[in-house]
Amino acid sequence: MRSYSLIAPAKINLHLEIIGDRPDRYHELAMVLQGIDLADQIDINANGTDQFRLHCDHPEVPADESNLAYKAAKLMAQEFPDAFEQYGGANIAIHKHIPVGAGLAGGSTNGAAVLVGLDLIWGLGLTQGELQDLAARLGSDVPFCIAGGTAIATGRGEQLSPLPGLDSLYAVLAKYRSLSVSTAWAYQTYRKQFGDSYPPIAATGSVPGTTPPKQRAHAGEIVSAIMQHDGAKIGKLLHNDLEKVVLPAYPQVTELRETLQQFNPLGAMMSGSGPTVFALAESQKEAEYLQQQIQAALPDPDLQTWVTRFRAGGIQIV
Ligand code: ATP
Repeated sequence: MRSYSLIAPAKINLHLEIIGDRPDRYHELAMVLQGIDLADQIDINANGTDQFRLHCDHPEVPADESNLAYKAAKLMAQEFPDAFEQYGGANIAIHKHIPVGAGLAGGSTNGAAVLVGLDLIWGLGLTQGELQDLAARLGSDVPFCIAGGTAIATGRGEQLSPLPGLDSLYAVLAKYRSLSVSTAWAYQTYRKQFGDSYPPIAATGSVPGTTPPKQRAHAGEIVSAIMQHDGAKIGKLLHNDLEKVVLPAYPQVTELRETLQQFNPLGAMMSGSGPTVFALAESQKEAEYLQQQIQAALPDPDLQTWVTRFRAGGIQIV
């Protein structure tokens, strides 16, 4: 077949810990990532030309070479020149549902979908591992987006270990439409403020043959709560180091987080570099209750909310 529609889910971070610096100037991270059922749709079809044509229905998303979906297509053409020559390029249409610059990996999941889509269209038969190796060259969150579900992510975020699925939990997401946070800004600001306390690079485990000292990574407790499928414990153990820089700079996000917390969810936290805040719930009913409460407490037309369910898989054919 030469035409596919793919579901590209967003993610939230249940744990985001900055361990220190790496020799490549990225941060060494320890994260727990969770796919959710808020998703973009990517339609991709072979166009028989030597070009990739991109269309996106969201005005803030660039439909040019800077788009991660376009970069993914170029990477595939570069890596598989014979298939590109035989089948040609593709038309790629992105239908955005995931808010942009929100800490939900919207761009990354679009890039992941294009890797999967071209693999299908060109009949390459790549394994998940091969797709994830390509994905790591596009961005740190892209490999996770291929497989989705629940996973520990270390290194820059590209080294993944799957965890048992949590797909009975729900997350209410809340984001001010007009606010977005640059991921690069958040990490750079963190380095400026806390870089002095980073351990020497060799101690982070970034140097081949070294392992990070156990006391530096604190993901163990939430990982065991996930293994036990204990929603209440997971909610209490949510953690995100980037809150230390994003919340002081964006008081609206702090207020949103504090307001959500007042309604006694399992837990509330900012996702990734923000500004989306999420609250966890055991059931759809509880999640809808939280959504109503937050909308009533902060009746601002700029505030968007979503009830989403945890999701088991990553990129999926419609
Ligand atoms: P992450 O959680 O991976 O850090 P994010 O959710 O914070 O990402 P994105 O929605 O991926 O942020 O967008 C960040 C920037 O990337 C946007 O400002 C946009 O200009 C650019 N971008 C490039 N490609 C895309 C895409 N396909 N979808 C959304 N944004 C894209």
